[in-house]
Amino acid sequence: MTIRHHPPDDFLTGFAAGTLDLGQHVAIATHLTGCSRCRRTVRLMEHVGGSVLAEMQPTPMSDDALARVEARMDQPVMPAARIAPPRPGALDDLPELPAFVRRYAVSSWKWIAPGLRFRPIQLPTDSPTRVFLLQSAPGTAMLDHTHTGQEMTCVLRGGFQHRAGQYGPGDFDLGDSSRHHDVVVDAGEACLCLVAMHGKLRLSGLLGAIVQPFLRL
Ligand SMILES: [Zn+2]
Repeated sequence: MTIRHHPPDDFLTGFAAGTLDLGQHVAIATHLTGCSRCRRTVRLMEHVGGSVLAEMQPTPMSDDALARVEARMDQPVMPAARIAPPRPGALDDLPELPAFVRRYAVSSWKWIAPGLRFRPIQLPTDSPTRVFLLQSAPGTAMLDHTHTGQEMTCVLRGGFQHRAGQYGPGDFDLGDSSRHHDVVVDAGEACLCLVAMHGKLRLSGLLGAIVQPFLRL
């Protein structure tokens, strides 16, 4: 697997620092499972961050710090949302899905448009970034579109191209409101991607204006 497109450094920094929201974190982690180059970068950032922490001057704590911590120990713990894991065999058609994603509940395939369907991934906590699998039939030309927020795409199977280049398994693509996405899926094989989307898709042109009200993404 030759990876040509990687996440921008600020996302790798956010991953190392734990400042990404959960949906973004899942997308970057998906890329990291297949990309040794970005894993090295994240390890380096974590090392640098640890060194900075070690060299910081300690700050004196307030006199009542211990009392406040002890008071919180009596408060009830908020349980995490319980989401049923996928039933056995439900993800057998998705061998490329990283193991950590397979622990989340994944809905059934939903139709979006001819040649295009998606499968939402239910995250255990709320996130402003939604995560879903997107499968496109070979040769599908996506409607020209932009985004109201950021969209991270991790290619799991097959490939596509747009004006920024050719994308295949392991590649990472970032779309945002400043970039038009005129995506054409490679011929011969369906393209499967994990997508983390913040905001909504905005389709361009007259056809987009007609289709947009019916689009569920
Ligand atoms: Zn990478």
